[in-house]
Amino acid sequence: MDWLKIKTILGDQPKFRYQQIERALFKEVISDWQEASNLPKELREKLAVTAPLDLPAEFVGSISQGSVKALMTLADGLKIETVLMKLNDRYTVCVSSQVGCPLGCSFCATGSLGFKRNLTDQEIINQAILWARYLKSKSAAIDNLVFMGMGEPFLNYDNVMKAIKFLNSQASLNIGARKISISSVGVTEGIKKMAKEPWQLNLAISLHATRDDLRSELIPTNKKYSIKKIIQAVDDYIEETGRKVMFEYMLIKDVNDSDEDAKALANLMHAPLYMVNLIAYNPTGKFKAPTSDRILRFKQILIDGRVNVTLRRSLGQDISAACGQLLGK
Ligand code: SF4
Repeated sequence: MDWLKIKTILGDQPKFRYQQIERALFKEVISDWQEASNLPKELREKLAVTAPLDLPAEFVGSISQGSVKALMTLADGLKIETVLMKLNDRYTVCVSSQVGCPLGCSFCATGSLGFKRNLTDQEIINQAILWARYLKSKSAAIDNLVFMGMGEPFLNYDNVMKAIKFLNSQASLNIGARKISISSVGVTEGIKKMAKEPWQLNLAISLHATRDDLRSELIPTNKKYSIKKIIQAVDDYIEETGRKVMFEYMLIKDVNDSDEDAKALANLMHAPLYMVNLIAYNPTGKFKAPTSDRILRFKQILIDGRVNVTLRRSLGQDISAACGQLLGK
């Protein structure tokens, strides 16, 4: 579905016609023009031929089990993954921003794919539309949107922000800015630009290590964006926006899960608006997840160090839809 193309096809139709179509596409979330019964038959037939609404996707998993993954096929035949998760009766959509990823993090299945291209704003929007249609059949809607799928969102900054602007608008899905999160490995130019955006979006940083040598092994782009540079950019962001920042820390057995690692993390998380979200590693082959006891011990050290910490339940492992597992296959 291409909203800009639809607008072009509509040409000089009266304004109310646009509004009817916007309503049909983004409020009723139709997937076939025949469902737009308030449009004249000829217009519906014209749009069905010139601007089809299908979003080709294969679904894996079941939302009743907590998460569903959709493998979407783009117009050029490339494939991306997007995931719907349900937790406490809230629906969170995880979207991709790139096909593959150029950053090659060693724990990440997407990184092993290499980089194909950036997604267009429309391709990002379509991931949300796909899930809005899916949820319509359950009389539900998207509650949260996170950029944690394939790709580094700040390397596709403009299209990510265009998509957010659109999805946030009242005429489209109207997803509140506070319900939208961008997760980055710490591309500091993106953090700086995001601080100037007019919306109250959420920023998450994938930290995963407190020492540059280890972090550079896990996230090679740390050689460019060191921990010190990231912390400086985050501090500037907080000063500018007054908003909390979430640091994601993926616990990997015998790599970054020792008591010393926990103490170092507690020391680094010095600011009141810093939050830490611990995630147990989702095995993709190379590494292993720590035991539950080790995870809880790590968390307790952070609590003792007065750090705001949460432990995220990982959804979607069974369908390879958890963090770092999206492969486009
Ligand atoms: S973790 Fe994120 S930035 Fe790193 S390779 Fe995977 S998708 Fe790219």
